[in-house]
Amino acid sequence: MAQTHTPNPPQIAYCQGYSVDVDTIREQEYPLLNETTYLDHAGTTIYAKSTIEAFSRDMTSNLFGNPHSMSQSSQLSTQRTDDVRLRVLRFFNADPEEYDLVFVANATAAIKLVTDSIRDSDHRGFWYGYHIDAHTSLVGVREVAELGHECLQGDDKVDSWISEELAISQTKVPQLFAYPAQSNLNGRRLPLRWCKEIRSAAATNGANVFTLLDAASLLSTSPLDLSAVAPDFTALSFYKIFGFPDLGALIVRKSAARVFDRRKYFGGGTVDIVVAAGPQWHAKKETSLHERLEDGTLPFHNIIALDAAMDTHERLYGSMANVSSHTAFLAKHLYDRLSVLSHWNETHVCHIYQPSSATFGCSLTQGPILAFNLKNSQGEWIAKTEVEKLATVQNIQIRTGSVCNPGGTATSLGWTGTKMRHLYTTGFRCGDDTDIVEGRPTGVLRVSLGAMTNMKDIDSLVNFIAEFYVENAPPVVSVDPPIENNTLGRHFYIESLSVFPIKSCGAFKIPEGKRWEVKREGLAWDREWCLIHQGTGAALNQKRYPRMALIRPSIDLDRGILRITCGVMTDSVSLEISLGWEDTTLISTSLCPNTTKRSMVCGDQVALHAYASPVVSAFFSDFLGVPCTLARFPSQTADRFSRPIRMSSTWKNKFRKLLMPGSYPPDFPPPVRDIGRNPLLLSNEMPILVVSRSSVNRVNETIKAQGKQGASKAVSADVFRGNIVVAERLVQMGDAEQPYIEDHWSSLRIGSDLLRIDVLEACQRCQMVCIDQFTGQRRDEPFSTLAKTRKVDGKVNFGQYAALSIEEAETFSDSPDHRTVMVGDVVIPQYEN
Ligand SMILES: *Cc1c(COP(=O)(O)O)cnc(C)c1O
Repeated sequence: MAQTHTPNPPQIAYCQGYSVDVDTIREQEYPLLNETTYLDHAGTTIYAKSTIEAFSRDMTSNLFGNPHSMSQSSQLSTQRTDDVRLRVLRFFNADPEEYDLVFVANATAAIKLVTDSIRDSDHRGFWYGYHIDAHTSLVGVREVAELGHECLQGDDKVDSWISEELAISQTKVPQLFAYPAQSNLNGRRLPLRWCKEIRSAAATNGANVFTLLDAASLLSTSPLDLSAVAPDFTALSFYKIFGFPDLGALIVRKSAARVFDRRKYFGGGTVDIVVAAGPQWHAKKETSLHERLEDGTLPFHNIIALDAAMDTHERLYGSMANVSSHTAFLAKHLYDRLSVLSHWNETHVCHIYQPSSATFGCSLTQGPILAFNLKNSQGEWIAKTEVEKLATVQNIQIRTGSVCNPGGTATSLGWTGTKMRHLYTTGFRCGDDTDIVEGRPTGVLRVSLGAMTNMKDIDSLVNFIAEFYVENAPPVVSVDPPIENNTLGRHFYIESLSVFPIKSCGAFKIPEGKRWEVKREGLAWDREWCLIHQGTGAALNQKRYPRMALIRPSIDLDRGILRITCGVMTDSVSLEISLGWEDTTLISTSLCPNTTKRSMVCGDQVALHAYASPVVSAFFSDFLGVPCTLARFPSQTADRFSRPIRMSSTWKNKFRKLLMPGSYPPDFPPPVRDIGRNPLLLSNEMPILVVSRSSVNRVNETIKAQGKQGASKAVSADVFRGNIVVAERLVQMGDAEQPYIEDHWSSLRIGSDLLRIDVLEACQRCQMVCIDQFTGQRRDEPFSTLAKTRKVDGKVNFGQYAALSIEEAETFSDSPDHRTVMVGDVVIPQYEN
């Protein structure tokens, strides 16, 4: 069928028609966006400050009662709701004679209301057709379509369904066709002419077909003229247009309202009279459509807030057409700049999933959303989660994954349904960190713009990709630092020793002169406890809650207590807990061994012993502002061998610390003796993290050399959260430090007893290294520098994991006293050959 675009597509221009230039709007109305590059407007756009202030004035100067009654306050709510309803209809150029608007929670609720009603409308059920670009919420409709469903895999398939099937079909059963007005994956704007075409094809033979337009994505940056498009049902979410309120609507063409006649459910508000007992009888409201469909109390405060949102939006931007033009201009600019980014060998950096029927610069066929992935100069895909980590550190907010658009993502990335089912059986889930499977990405990076996006946002994103992902020269084949002859004889020593008694909290530095036990599971008392969310049971981490760095545990073996101090010197508080499992008399709180919580740690369930005392939970909850409590990993004897063991590498990364039971107070029964004999288990342990002082120095030199203003400052070795920091003993004049020499270590001999520790593998880093361990503040270093200088196969490595060698562990019972380390101990590395 011929495309029927208007001959002159709308002009695109930077903030044309806006009240003032967009930078001024940003300054005045969106202070929250100052420090960040927010590019997830397709997730939600951001509300203007004026909206919230006006709403707040409205709320504090008026008394709003529950609608549906006669009181003054109730009447006020009813009036305002009616006014807003009309205002929204006008916003979409929908004549209230022809259209009604039903307030719902969100676009998904609107879709579901249509679904449930059409199912009830005919005892045979209904048939459902949907476009491949549909959002997940539209795809789900098929599960209730008892007469079957079909996914139309492309615009031409829709055209031929209309002209070839619909036009000649004799069936009178209800049929529903749904599609997104804009793809939330790549911003392609789909033909709006289908709604009318479907209706006229159906009219020729009296077919019972309805159209459902999912306008949720389109409306955030585009006007919609319902009188011209005329879908039977239109679903939308207001937060995507105005940033606030959280509210949705279903707009119904009144001539399609018969679909709702047999809707079974009724709630308060949608019936005139109900007989609760005896013979089943009720009388539904026969007034307006929305009165029949809005079950229960309307979200009337949210509806009232729409007034403020629409006022502000109109005042700032003038019209949706202006927003469309502005965002189309920026999207074209972004597309043009990303698509020319290339590596030294002229290969492209950005692989943009640009549908052929859409063109940036044309607001009729393309909205301001870009889906893409990055490639290195060798043509290999760069993992989306790696990009996301670095973007987070650089304060750029984007969305990654399959972004709730299963059909579009699969088509873009070339995944078939069979293949996806297979992936699922191998453990892959939407949104997990499996980025590349069989050389192909599993998701995309999505950047989406909004009314208040400015050129600076575009610059930040493009500069970010240029800085971190464009290779200006062939990758240096990593020549290993030469191991000179005199290297082999060089000595190192332990500069500092740390344990982290509470996972993800501050370090306890082992005092100089104190020998500390090394166990097969790591340094004694390392990661013996953790904090868990009291609602979800999930272990908290510093990445999410940087203030955890300020929770500083210390171990007092003489008194048998763990002392925990929170906060900075002047106003710190502390708590003491017994190191023992049974002895609860010594402590200011009690450990209840019976409250074993199934807890999620890094996505898997582990049984933890949670401290039930309100004193303990209040101590941590008050400090972090999160309802949480302390929990202890279970004793080795009880649980060690009952935990699930899987061997996939993601699992290995995630659970390295979990299989490490803690350490025990001296009077506790000794742990099981045969740990050394379980290679399966031990292969997953990464008990000790070794960090080299020389490497930390090198990172700092690099940060300094880059000399970016402001942000870049030297970092402390503490950010790497190593258990053992080793430094080089430079004996002769002219000896230079050897950063990253630890990459070549195979094992270490420590102290006069030559305790042997085997080096296992490099530690892969994330943005957590950017949290200053003294202030709990986030910054962009050292992760940004590491990402440039320490990337191997897309992973950022720094430091080495190590473990007491099996050999040492086997002599466990003979000489446990010898298995200790101390600050100042000599460290003699062995090198890989
Ligand atoms: C966001 C979105 C939805 C779902 O909106 P909710 O507010 O989550 O219900 C549906 N379809 C499209 C195209 C969207 O972009």
